[in-house]
Amino acid sequence: MFELPELMTLAKQMNDTLKGKIIRRGQLGNSPHKFVWYNRGHHEFEKLTKGKKIGEARPKGRWLFIPLEPEYVLLLGECGGKVLYHRPGSKLPKKYHLYITFEDGSFLTATTQMWGAMELYEKGKENDRKYVKGMRTTPIEPEFTLDYFSSIIDDCARAEKRSAKGLLTQDQIIPGLGNAIAQDILFRAHLHPRHSIGDLSGGERRALYDAILSTIDEIEKKGGRYDEHDLYNNSGGYVRIMDKNAAGRPCPQCGGKIEKMQYLGGTCYFCPDCQK
Ligand SMILES: [Zn+2]
Repeated sequence: MFELPELMTLAKQMNDTLKGKIIRRGQLGNSPHKFVWYNRGHHEFEKLTKGKKIGEARPKGRWLFIPLEPEYVLLLGECGGKVLYHRPGSKLPKKYHLYITFEDGSFLTATTQMWGAMELYEKGKENDRKYVKGMRTTPIEPEFTLDYFSSIIDDCARAEKRSAKGLLTQDQIIPGLGNAIAQDILFRAHLHPRHSIGDLSGGERRALYDAILSTIDEIEKKGGRYDEHDLYNNSGGYVRIMDKNAAGRPCPQCGGKIEKMQYLGGTCYFCPDCQK
């Protein structure tokens, strides 16, 4: 699944490569799949996208907003899989859930792995979409300050018992983070996934805040995680510190053995010595 840094990479590459291109033909998928969420029929999608110009793409949480100018916005949300640019004359992938050809013969395909939204909105209406509407401040917005972060910790801790992993991965409290990035954030912040956020000291809050921003920044700079692909079908350059390959290996910091556990709907990898 794409998390915020991968969407930042895709948006940047789209702005380098796709921005300004004119759509010759926009098509939905050839591979029916009930977890791909469309809000238009094939014919309608083709009609509404024809002749539109690709505007400046931007990520927000786990959603990618791609303006189709004038007047429309294509939303790719909660997706995993591949969103790929193809040069003119390239071979079309066998399965796709979106296939947009441009006037210059190049094309874009999107094939989602598990689920995902591929929806076309009249400009402005995309903001009313469930999960987009009312989305909390994302970590790449200037409003995501340490004070703001501390205030959401206070709010969450007052409402119910919540762990550090829960803060990062549940209910999109910090939109755009997911199970993959959360593991490295917690390692960098020296926090155990189960650590109750109600007990976080001022220093621990700052460490967690800094770890969120630095991890996003590093993954984005390296073009995404190594197990995801960018717009040009290259694997990302960011090798995760804490993932399935880490279990049983020595911790890069203390040399102790990295452990794994099932917790909150996913496997956690962590160092029991470094993460308290
Ligand atoms: Zn360690």
